[in-house]
Amino acid sequence: MKTKSLRGILRLLALAGLAVSSLALAQQAPERGIVHVGGDLYRAQNNAHFTVFLVTSEGIIVSDPINRDFAEWLKGELESRYDVPVRILLYSHHHWDHASGGEVFDDTAELVGHETMPAALALRSPDTPLSGAAADLDANGNGRIEQAEANGNLAGQFALIDADGDGALTGAEIARGPLSDVHPPSTVYSGSRTVTLGGKSVELIHIASDHSPDMSVLRFPDEDAVFFVDIISVKRLPFQTFPGLEVDGLIETIQSVEALDFSVAVGGHGDIGTKQDVTDHRRYIEELRDAVAAGMADGQSLEELQASITMDAYSDWASFNWLADNIAGMYRMLGGGNN
Ligand SMILES: [Zn+2]
Repeated sequence: MKTKSLRGILRLLALAGLAVSSLALAQQAPERGIVHVGGDLYRAQNNAHFTVFLVTSEGIIVSDPINRDFAEWLKGELESRYDVPVRILLYSHHHWDHASGGEVFDDTAELVGHETMPAALALRSPDTPLSGAAADLDANGNGRIEQAEANGNLAGQFALIDADGDGALTGAEIARGPLSDVHPPSTVYSGSRTVTLGGKSVELIHIASDHSPDMSVLRFPDEDAVFFVDIISVKRLPFQTFPGLEVDGLIETIQSVEALDFSVAVGGHGDIGTKQDVTDHRRYIEELRDAVAAGMADGQSLEELQASITMDAYSDWASFNWLADNIAGMYRMLGGGNN
């Protein structure tokens, strides 16, 4: 009996070790690949994040670098497939999870972003205090968060937040966010700009969005395609609780993409699809809004809304398990709860 239970414990430990090592393996080996979208346009993947690139006779135009490790991988892939370098990099917006690692292409490429991108990347005033949540972590009370004091995102993104690399996070660094590996654009544009290379062109179009002030959509006229990031996803639910958004603005943002001339829709998340998928994404948000508003008018609580709203027509979309979060976010956007 004793032997058997010891053996059982050893087996559990072995299984636990296997689980840990396969998790570590998954973290070490991100899912990467390149697919052909159409014409000279390709989409490249890093786990749930995607970017695009356009190949021309005089060089390659790439969009978001995503992160340094991915950018180095992509650069190697491009060097092995094509005999022209990356000449232009077009940022969709400044957020760390799409825009990090652009320095990898800085040796050969012009980096282009919206005119509000440099301000979004700017260091904050050095006397910015620690926010309430961060101040609670400051066990030694020195006004900075050392690695040993950090938890959650502050711990996971420590190096990306630590802009001066001194091993401690100030209020200014935390307020700026994990942007230390986002290389600033060498050129900015306002409104819209068409870049041309090797007889091909890409249109950068600024889109008003509460997700980020510097949001750009890329349009590829020859491929009849657009590339958008974070504001719409194809056949995937909107991200969780609609952080930072309000519903009318969100719908207007999507409508301004629908107003562009294209038939192929390429997302920075989710699938590759068509203009109809962009419309479907807006329709999902409008139907969710109407269902949540109707339930709220009937006096339903958030929990009752989450139990009664099923959005069955969209159950084959990716991340459908975000529905309860989507309902909570819509409830907030419609003024429910403490808001
Ligand atoms: Zn973003």
